[in-house]
Amino acid sequence: MHDDAANHLAFERARLVLPGGVNSPVRAYGSVGGDPRFVSSASGPYIRDVTGTEYVDLVCSWGPALLGHAHPAVVEAVQEAAARGLSFGAPTLGEVELAEEIRRRVPAAEHVRLVSTGTEATMTAVRLARGATGRPLIVKFAGCYHGHVDSLLAEAGSGVANQALPGSAGVTEATASETLVLPYNDLEAVEQVFAERGSEIAAVITEAAPANMGIVPPLPGFNEGLRRITTAHGALLIFDEVLTGFRVSASGWWGYETSTLGASYTPDIFTFGKVVGGGMPVAAIGGPSVLMDLLAPLGPVYQAGTLSGNPVAVAAGRATLAAADASVYARVDEVSTTIADATSAALSAEGVAHRVQRSGNLFSVMFGDLAQEVGTRTYAQVQASDTFRYPAFFHAMLDAGVNLPPSVYEAWFVSAAHDDTAVGRILDALPGAAKAAAAA
Ligand code: PMP
Repeated sequence: MHDDAANHLAFERARLVLPGGVNSPVRAYGSVGGDPRFVSSASGPYIRDVTGTEYVDLVCSWGPALLGHAHPAVVEAVQEAAARGLSFGAPTLGEVELAEEIRRRVPAAEHVRLVSTGTEATMTAVRLARGATGRPLIVKFAGCYHGHVDSLLAEAGSGVANQALPGSAGVTEATASETLVLPYNDLEAVEQVFAERGSEIAAVITEAAPANMGIVPPLPGFNEGLRRITTAHGALLIFDEVLTGFRVSASGWWGYETSTLGASYTPDIFTFGKVVGGGMPVAAIGGPSVLMDLLAPLGPVYQAGTLSGNPVAVAAGRATLAAADASVYARVDEVSTTIADATSAALSAEGVAHRVQRSGNLFSVMFGDLAQEVGTRTYAQVQASDTFRYPAFFHAMLDAGVNLPPSVYEAWFVSAAHDDTAVGRILDALPGAAKAAAAA
């Protein structure tokens, strides 16, 4: 049984040295209330808190744990790499092999630069786009989160959505004025902004399938439309697959949309993170060699990192991708469908208006009378939903031993390690949580 007092002591102690007691804002339970669980260990589909309580985990480190926590092959690869040295500040063959595997899965990523976080990847992608085009402006979409890059925080989702901040203090007006924010899924707005300022726009950056305002799938033709418009105006298309990459399919959202959904387009620059590091700090930028070779040391766009391509982190990424075969994606797809359908059934049984939004194997629940046919398409619609029902739902699940993302704006993440026992525990917890949501 979870010991609230012991966990609270850990949180109190944390708050004496860490702002808000955490090193990343959404972890603080700001939008659901209560004390964040302090975690001591995790394996497979489970995490354990410092008081010894075990939870089925639907956060999965916010995406990286595609194989489940502490997968034996990944842990072994990390241990072997660590024994050979933690960091060299010199090239290694491991980095080459990881880049080769990324290109095998996403051929348009001809050349790849490894960095340590998704934020670095999008920051570099934006600089590269400006360097390549000589233009200043970036177009982004409301509700899309691309990390805490100054120019990309305007109307961002994820933790920024939670705190209801328009962006962030500390971002200058000059920087903010070089980012144009448009409603998601609205190609007319994109056409219009390009008609007005096309010659100044370096790139459109978009989440391949947005998952930081809850799940808001791209309408059929949206990503293709972005490709068409950017090409027509000589601007680049940056496809942020930090969250979707190597999770929604072996080749990410681009691979899923072009093979399974029949779309046809190729972005210029891809950003990857999360799964590509298997739980260790690895992220990447990939694109055509002519573009990527504008990066230092070959070109004029500067980018560097003491720990970029870190050998231990790269070992985790390589082992993760090596194990992520078709059976892994099939299991993640299957478990997502089971949990999404059961969640919807439990809420319907209690008369709670809701919609489970899905993009491939990513899903999240939105509360309220949402357009059932077409679904929720924009951040404004998400913000107008009955978000007040989520804290009660979240805490009922937590009390029943299921760890959901502590925010209604986040995707639920499953892993291939979610076996029938773990899934059964989630299904058992849902009816009580649906009751709590109904009473909220
Ligand atoms: N892009 C997307 C789509 C993301 O979901 C995230 C993180 N959730 C980032 C970028 C930033 O990655 P990181 O937190 O590793 O900096």
